[in-house]
Amino acid sequence: MANIILLGPPGAGKGTQAKRLVEGRGMVQLSTGDMLREAKTSGSEMGRKVAAVMARGELVTDEIVIGLIQEKLTGHAGGGFIFDGFPRTLAQADALGALLAEMGQSLDAVIEMKVDDAALVARITGRYTCGGCGAVYHDQARPTKVTDVCDECDSTNMVRRADDTEDALRTRLLEYYKKTSPLIGYYHAKGALTSVDGLAEVAVVAAAISKALGAAP
Ligand code: ADP
Ligand code: ZN
Repeated sequence: MANIILLGPPGAGKGTQAKRLVEGRGMVQLSTGDMLREAKTSGSEMGRKVAAVMARGELVTDEIVIGLIQEKLTGHAGGGFIFDGFPRTLAQADALGALLAEMGQSLDAVIEMKVDDAALVARITGRYTCGGCGAVYHDQARPTKVTDVCDECDSTNMVRRADDTEDALRTRLLEYYKKTSPLIGYYHAKGALTSVDGLAEVAVVAAAISKALGAAP
């Protein structure tokens, strides 16, 4: 199955689209942000090490995230990966290329989700997710039907991320422009890049991604 990268600034909607691809195509979502948050909750040494870095909105070291991805790739020989929030630096991109090559896998598409900064700030500062099923909500744009009760699984455990504050978000955006946005040129030069308008409705963005991927298997 195809392997793809969802590339874009924080709040571009990568997680939302990844979730649809998992449901619609049976792909495997690999979100380094989720993996790091899990490590944090599990109380492991690595989790404690990264917590402060993440709360400030800075990038965790390449060594840590490459290690996490490598761990997840083993045992999934069949492919069908959605890389969500990884790679975020040129070193990570090179490492991913090498890992996929070792597995006999290819990178089939890199989807750049374009969203302007003002929209990102509005999206992120009102964002919360269901701790039960991962559904994403927003105070203004998409609140739960009943306050703090998930529409999809009835969980009342709504979670707001520690780094969804204005200060941390400013740092996350700077990190994105400095370290991650060069990947747009990197993958464009490889002929792998497709850009979609991340400001369009969720279903419209999904259709654009589907088109880039070809028919569902
Ligand atoms: P967002 O894309 O909304 O910023 P993520 O959940 O992808 O959120 O990432 C949250 C935080 O986790 C980042 O700000 C960073 O600290 C860390 N992180 C996630 N993925 C990576 C990565 N590939 N390299 C370095 N740090 C990462
Ligand atoms: Zn839920």
